[in-house]
Order: sequence, then C-alpha cells, then structure tokens
Amino acid sequence: MAYAYDDQNIFAKILRGEIPNDTVLETEHTLAFRDIQPQAPVHVLVIPKGSYVSYDHFASHASDDEIVDYNRAIAQVCAQEGVALDAGEGFRMISNAGANGVQEVPHLHVHVLGGRPLGRMLA
Ligand code: IMP
Repeated sequence: MAYAYDDQNIFAKILRGEIPNDTVLETEHTLAFRDIQPQAPVHVLVIPKGSYVSYDHFASHASDDEIVDYNRAIAQVCAQEGVALDAGEGFRMISNAGANGVQEVPHLHVHVLGGRPLGRMLA
C-alpha cells in the first residue's frame, strides 16, 4: 500500500475514545462530529472508522459496505444539520488530501459546511 497510516493521528485517537468529540452521527463504519474550530454555522467532519488516509485511498481499498455507509452518512449529516437541498439550503463538502491539499490530520475526513452563504471557492 502506498500510504502509511499513522495510528497516532488525532482522529484515530477520537475513534479509540482516547479524546472526546462532539458526535452528531455514528453508524457501523462512520463517525461524524463537529469541527473544533468551525468555519461556518454547520461544520461537521465525517470520517470512516477504518484506517484510511484520504478519499482516493478509501475508495480504492475500502469494502463496498464501508463506502456505501460513509456516503450515506454524509447525506444523513446534511439532512440532520438542516443544510440538505431538500431543506432548501445548501452545503459544501471538502476533503483535503496530502501536502498539496494541505491536509492537517492524516485520516480521511470530509468537511460538511453550511448554514450561511459560503462564497465561491475552488482552490
Ligand atoms: P484538514 O486541514 O482538512 O486536515 O482539517 C482538519 C480539521 O480537523 C480542522 O478543521 C481542525 O479544526 C479539525 N480538528 C482538529 N482536531 C480536532 C478535534 O479534536 N476535534 C474536532 N475537530 C478537530
């Protein structure tokens, strides 16, 4: 495997219950919790319970069950947090990966941001 997973990263510690988190959703394969430094009224991090560094790593190596669970959990977070399109709102999903993506925590996470107009941003 091309990626070395660091099991001392902070999200691994959250998954092991070694440090607290503000959970909004937990499923068989996924945990979602509030970002400690929110950038918008809704700022939730959605992480797989498995040891994956980035989305490409996850999508290449995770089981179909994990991938479905993770993606459905993201949709459920959007619904729960009131930012889903069905609620007439809107949101942004971001997943930073590696050095060029300026990823701080080397465990896959999707940021779900919403609750205010977010402005245009592609890079
Ligand atoms: P990245 O730059 O995409 O890796 O984002 C990492 C995110 O994790 C940042 O938005 C941090 O605020 C967030 N973060 C770091 N430590 C914690 C924590 O203990 N709980 C919740 N969020 C955290």
